[in-house]
This record gives sequence, C-alpha cells and structure tokens, in this order.
Amino acid sequence: MTVGRPRATVAAMAPYRPGKSTAMAADEHGLDAADAVKLSSNENPYPPVASVVEAVAAAAGEVNRYGDHGATELRHALAGWLGVDVAQVVTGCGSVGLLQQLFLSYVDPGDEVVYPWPSFEAYPVDVRITGGVEVAVPLVDHAFDMDSVAAAVTPRTKLVVLANPNNPTGTAVHVDEIRTLVERVPDDVLVVVDEAYREFVTVDLGDPVTDLVPDHPNVVVLRTFSKAYGLAALRTGYGVADPSVAEQVDKVLIPFAVNHLAQKGSLAAIAARDEVQVVIDRLTAERDRVVVALRDGGWEVPDAHANFVWLPLGGRTDEVFPELERQGVVVRPFPGVGIRVTIGTPAENDRFLAALARL
Ligand SMILES: *Cc1c(COP(=O)(O)O)cnc(C)c1O
Repeated sequence: MTVGRPRATVAAMAPYRPGKSTAMAADEHGLDAADAVKLSSNENPYPPVASVVEAVAAAAGEVNRYGDHGATELRHALAGWLGVDVAQVVTGCGSVGLLQQLFLSYVDPGDEVVYPWPSFEAYPVDVRITGGVEVAVPLVDHAFDMDSVAAAVTPRTKLVVLANPNNPTGTAVHVDEIRTLVERVPDDVLVVVDEAYREFVTVDLGDPVTDLVPDHPNVVVLRTFSKAYGLAALRTGYGVADPSVAEQVDKVLIPFAVNHLAQKGSLAAIAARDEVQVVIDRLTAERDRVVVALRDGGWEVPDAHANFVWLPLGGRTDEVFPELERQGVVVRPFPGVGIRVTIGTPAENDRFLAALARL
C-alpha cells in the first residue's frame, strides 16, 4: 500500500541500484566474499595517500560542529589550482550532487535535457526527479555523435550533458568538438561537461576550463575527488561555471552537504596532487595493459580514456556477466548492451582477464 501521495514521477522511478558489492555477489553465487573482486563502481582500488587519511582523521574530532556550508577554504584552493575566480567555483555532495543542483536550478517540468546515450545513469534519474523530458541521442560506434546532439537541441532545451570521458563506454571527445557544439546551441542552454574521469585521460583533449569557459559562460565543467583522487566515500564534487550559474546552483545545496571531513580531505588531496599522480599513472598503465590483453584475446574494445574498459557485447552481455560473477569477478552489466569493468590492482585485473579467457 502506498502511504501519502508521492509525485507520479517519483512513484514511477526504480530505486537507485549501486554497483554490486562483493558480499552481495558472493552470497548469490555461494562464493567466499574475501576472494571476490569488485570492479563494478569505477572506484580507485588504492586507499587515499597518507596525508589525506591524516587530515580526515584529525577532522573527525571536530564533527560536533557544523562544517563551513560554503566550503570557503576549499573553493579558494580550487580556484587557485584551476586558475579561475573563486566566484566561478562551486562545490557539492559529489559531482552527482552538483548535477542534481543544476537540474533543480534549471529544469522545470516539461523542459528538455539532451545527452548522448548510453551514458551516466544519474542523468535520467535527475530528469525524472525534476519532471523534465529526456532527449537521449544514440551513440555511434560507442562514441558521441556531436552533430546529432546539436540537432537534438530545441527551444525547450535547458541542459545538454556530456560525460567526457563517457561512462560506460570510456570514449572521449576533444574540447574543439565541444566548442563546435556550444557554438551551435543557443547561449541560454547550459552545456554541462561532466569530467569525473578527466585525470585518467592520457591524450591531449584540451581543457574546457581554460579553453571554453572564458568565451562561453554557458559551459559548466564538473569534476570530482571520487575517482582518480580515491575519495569516493567522502563525497566532494566541484565545478567551474559562470558566477551567475554558481549563484543559482548554490541556492539549492543542502545545508552542509559538503561535510567537514570531505572539505579537509579534499584540501589535503589538492596539496598532495603530485603523490596522487603516481597512483593515477599506475592505473592508466594498467588500463592500457588490459585493453591490449583484451584485443589480443579477440575482444572488441573501444579506446579507453577513463579507469574502466567497455565490452560492447550486446545480446551476449546477459550470458557473459553471470559467468564472470560466478568466478568472483563483480562487474557492471548494462543488460543487452555491454559490460563495464573497472581497472583495479594488477592482481584484480588479471583475475578479470583470466575469468574472461575461461569463457
Ligand atoms: C562516478 C561518476 C560521477 C560521480 O561522482 P561523485 O562521486 O558524485 O563525484 C559523475 N559523473 C560520472 C560520469 C561518473 O561516472
């Protein structure tokens, strides 16, 4: 029985399903959870660097007080790092938090939101929460078809959202292609570039913060400490936007959502970024090794620019995925489309490659 009168749009939504934990998968298949590997949520397999752990531990003794709602020190540190004005910087409860704030600030019921698809599964959730209209533009060869994205924009469009690199396919576009798109859409459409995986990109794709935002105030760039920086559980996302956009987005930030531990840990991570780069380099080298191994094994894999690989298996997805899980390798299936596999430690990646080879 439904108590109360939920909004129709929310009542019709499926519950959020996070990537499966090793415990859940082990339970289902009668495996030893300690022996299963989790490659399903694009997390960093390595713990944060020591100075970050110390900063978070030190801040734990201060959580009786509310933190700084505006994350002032963190925003200033980000502005200095990125070379932008502090009024252009926003922080949120993960970049998914900022994304939801953008939807809440800009999308009225009936407004259209355009994005390539398949892409990040949070986008349709935010469309439903706000009562917007999803305009999903099919990928071509696992990558964005920027002409079709531009052509999908109408007078009802409020947002265009591009995950670059794209989740789950790992493909990426150069900032010049984004500029061409921005020049084709009206100035009052926000183009959101979701760069959750930017730090893993090892080819020159340009930088929307320096190459786009100065000339195009309708471009919003989102980044996060969750993936490359290994702080997924802290929940710090940040963005660069026009100050007027930052002002609207800030109005709908849940009070103190960027919590005190998150702020202290993220500040320490910025200070330790040279050390973090070593971890990132290790992961991108592993990614490249896994891609080569997969292609050598006859698997079709698009170029991988993030910390995961994409197996576009189509109809075979639903047969390969349970087989990997039975072997204790927990990955992320997109039923009927493909399987996304996060890059883990070398031993975890070997487990995945061996499991796949056994099929
Ligand atoms: C993982 C991911 C995010 C989000 O992460 P937060 O932890 O909320 O910062 C955002 N965008 C994409 C495309 C992602 O894959």
